[in-house]
Amino acid sequence: MSHLAVLLFPPNWSSCVSGPHLAMPLLAGAARARSWDALCWDLTEAFSRTCAVSPAREAVKEACARGDFEELDQLYFLWEDQFQTVASNHRRRCSFGLLSGFHHDDLSGIPLGAVASALTSEGTIFDTYYRDVVLPRLHSLKPSVIGITIASHHQVIAALRLLQFVREALPKALIILGGNVVTRLRHSNAFRVLQAHADQVVIYQGDLAFGQSLQVVESVGVQKARKVLPLIAGDQQVAYESWPVPCFDGIDFDGFVGIPVLPYVSTRGCYWGRCNFCAIPMGWSEQGYAGSAPAQYVKDQLVSAVQTTGIRRIKFVDEALSPAKAKRLASFLRHDDYAIEWEAYARLEKAWEDLPLLHHAYAGGLRKLYFGLEQAPTTNRAILNKNDHGDIRRIMTACHTAGIKLHLFCMVGHPRSTTTDAWATTNFLIDNQMLIDTADLVGFRLDHGTTVPGVAELPNPYCDWQMSRRYTPTEPEVLSYEAVGQLEAECQEAVWVSAPRLLHPLYRIVGPWSVDTSAYRPHSIGALVEMDQGVA
Ligand code: SF4
Repeated sequence: MSHLAVLLFPPNWSSCVSGPHLAMPLLAGAARARSWDALCWDLTEAFSRTCAVSPAREAVKEACARGDFEELDQLYFLWEDQFQTVASNHRRRCSFGLLSGFHHDDLSGIPLGAVASALTSEGTIFDTYYRDVVLPRLHSLKPSVIGITIASHHQVIAALRLLQFVREALPKALIILGGNVVTRLRHSNAFRVLQAHADQVVIYQGDLAFGQSLQVVESVGVQKARKVLPLIAGDQQVAYESWPVPCFDGIDFDGFVGIPVLPYVSTRGCYWGRCNFCAIPMGWSEQGYAGSAPAQYVKDQLVSAVQTTGIRRIKFVDEALSPAKAKRLASFLRHDDYAIEWEAYARLEKAWEDLPLLHHAYAGGLRKLYFGLEQAPTTNRAILNKNDHGDIRRIMTACHTAGIKLHLFCMVGHPRSTTTDAWATTNFLIDNQMLIDTADLVGFRLDHGTTVPGVAELPNPYCDWQMSRRYTPTEPEVLSYEAVGQLEAECQEAVWVSAPRLLHPLYRIVGPWSVDTSAYRPHSIGALVEMDQGVA
């Protein structure tokens, strides 16, 4: 009899997405590679559907095609209002945001140990759903192993409550907890609280460790596995030959509002990894970089995932795809039979100014690039330690000419940047909106695990699980935490008024894909290719 692993992704990730978080499909792939049955269950998506009727994908697509941002606003706020009604009807003080989920306001400033006790006595907004839907289904599935991932700090409370429920209701299942947030909390008291609710905690990369734990369960059963497995596992280096093909079984792609997209990672961590404000790559390894798979290997895995799911749009979640790798990938993908399209994050390298490279990448399916611009070109990039030298204006023009859309990540209020820099960045977005598809414009945050010249973290023993920390300026002229919040709101408002497409959450989940949005079906490849050519 084959064993079953269920991968749970807790509520409170954004509901405004096009596909699942990659963690579950990767772990499910690791289980499949060991001949286990595996099921992904995206509780963010499933729980959202119990709270609100989401906008119809067709309505979003049509409004985007017309450039009708009033209609998009209406769809967005009608959706959000339903969640807010649920939040305000709950007996605990609760607020809601579509991009960050439900917040139990009274729990956000206390240590995680105290949160755990409060949850046991007072519950959460997720309790009824967990009791009525999640636990009965898990009981009927009888998984040997349950994996839970925490990818955002907004999910911590939902995950902790889920762990409490699952542990009590399914004592025969081995519970494995992991995810970027868990890894980054590994030296905190909060980590010990999380650990107390699971049989094993996996930090850094989890797919190899997860597979090894399944093997032990298979050999000796859950009870004995609890005694022999390490309490903390995980790898900082996993040879790419062991990276599993993501398995999307259990994911309901019709449940996402955006055009369905498969997440995929071909490079683990960031090949630069030294921007002083960025903690993202540290989830993969202490060095921030953990290897890259060659283009042929990537293409084979993508084709396998496309064949299984019928979805041919790929979101590379690599922190930064190098131009050289994009070129090799495009060489392979332009000859695949599935008209695969893809988007990827990248650094502002000079090579992205090269029009022939971009034409080649477009022919190989590249549809959108996401660059960390951070600040307008007038700002000195040395303050960010970005060490990138591409000219954003040339890159924007070349991408536009090649038909590749562009997203810019921007930040205001970085220490040692000024209010003038912030407005220069804001105006750069507005002035160049014809060349920019979408953007993020956020205030500087001091992320847990980073050290940024000009500010010092304010220790907060009362809250040990927040990923962004409050700080105080250590140099004259550096903006305060509160001033950055105010500046962020003002700059966002200015972009929102003059260039709503750039920031609109609904536009960006259909925007990258300019062609027909039907899924790949084996009998219709030719039709899809023709359609794409007709539009492009
Ligand atoms: S901001 Fe981007 S380029 Fe810089 S370290 Fe982070 S992921 Fe790498």
